[in-house]
Amino acid sequence: MTVWQDLEQEIRGFTEQIRSIPVLRTSHPRVVRDAVSARFDLSSPVPLPELTSAVAELLRTHTIHVTHPRYFGLFNPTVSEAGIVADALAALYNPQLAAWSHSPAANELERFILRYLGAALGFDRDATFANFTTGGAEANLSAVLAALAHRFPEVDREGVASVAQRLVMYVTGESHHSFVKIARTTGLGTRVLAEVPVTPQFAFDPQALAHRIHADRNAGLEPFMIIGTAGTTAGGTIDPLEALADLAAECGAWFHVDAAWGGGAALVPRLRAALQGIERADSVTWDAHKWLSVPMGAGMFFCRHVDAVRRAFAVSTSYMPAGGEETVDPYVTTVQWSRRAIGLKVFMSIAELGHTKFAERLDQQALMGDHLRARLQAAGWLIVNDTVLPLVCFTHPDIQDGRLTTTELLRRIYARGNVWISETVLGARERVLRACITSFRTEEQDLEYLVRELEHARVASE
Ligand SMILES: *Cc1c(COP(=O)(O)O)cnc(C)c1O
Repeated sequence: MTVWQDLEQEIRGFTEQIRSIPVLRTSHPRVVRDAVSARFDLSSPVPLPELTSAVAELLRTHTIHVTHPRYFGLFNPTVSEAGIVADALAALYNPQLAAWSHSPAANELERFILRYLGAALGFDRDATFANFTTGGAEANLSAVLAALAHRFPEVDREGVASVAQRLVMYVTGESHHSFVKIARTTGLGTRVLAEVPVTPQFAFDPQALAHRIHADRNAGLEPFMIIGTAGTTAGGTIDPLEALADLAAECGAWFHVDAAWGGGAALVPRLRAALQGIERADSVTWDAHKWLSVPMGAGMFFCRHVDAVRRAFAVSTSYMPAGGEETVDPYVTTVQWSRRAIGLKVFMSIAELGHTKFAERLDQQALMGDHLRARLQAAGWLIVNDTVLPLVCFTHPDIQDGRLTTTELLRRIYARGNVWISETVLGARERVLRACITSFRTEEQDLEYLVRELEHARVASE
């Protein structure tokens, strides 16, 4: 057999067997490390078929299988077949997307799908800047850099230290923690972040924000950015985007919406209204590698201030090919320099199914979320978050009464390896369980399985 036949076998086999293999096994660091060093010493060549099967076996054994229908985890999706094929094609042709002239096809495929997705957000196709990023963290960073370039052009030369005003970036305790790193890496410092209280439903409280902005201005501080989240990481909450857009317009702050996971709702007619207001954002983060079922890493950054983006990333060199009038070279409009064809897998995943089927696949996952909420409630569990997105945070009277901790419950669940869920804290309150539908393979039987595992783990000590 050739290595390509082996690879085909591996891809097919894994996809077909996924339902019957454990979601996870316990991998002790020493065991994994020894397994690697025992197999490979790099002193002599290893035939590629042998190498391929050895690496595949390691990956299969020591990985939490995020593409499993009973992985109810962090925002890591089951990947579409088209996504796997696209990543293989990207590796094969290895197009360099930094300069348009090096990879016209890949650049235009990316532009094409970004225009489509930008329009789904309600952005003007012809007046929006958009690019692929490694993920949401890079997209959020791009937003802050663009906002700085927009508001303070002198920062380009003089740095953030030249900004006389003390800037404030409004977030909540539920915002993504990439903003902490961004505050550091941009030189703004973490004190730029102002954490505004959330409502009892864990959403950005617009009234609290209005008060905070008022107080900050009276104290001589300068509202710089308001960060709304459409689908928070812990609880899937969609912030009141309209109200945040109004406040941003009033105080002149840049309105960024972090829709890393929740952006998928823009494609689902039944859920689109939940994102109302996102079209008023100055910039949006949306990860294709979260809900859109493509392999990592594929984030997206949308921004209506094309000039600000150009200012933030412009450079001129003697060694890069000169750009054309009608085209954009990503190395002068984005954080990355050399870049792989990130968008190919997004384009192929959507194109393979077509608009309607692709949207149905997302909606199916949202419906599974609704179903899980109902099943958990029927079995005596208590839902503690409030969202139309397929993320369920829940607890149990036994946990609330202190008879059982979420951590102990998870320990029992992980030891069996049949499902994967996690725990989190919402609004700085009590620790709760968190289950997210991330797979288009998840069916009702998988939800039943999850509820059974939960019940089993709960009564295990009684
Ligand atoms: C995952 C996530 C991010 C970070 O995105 P990466 O793709 O992991 O870099 C940012 N914001 C939110 C709301 C997220 O859920």
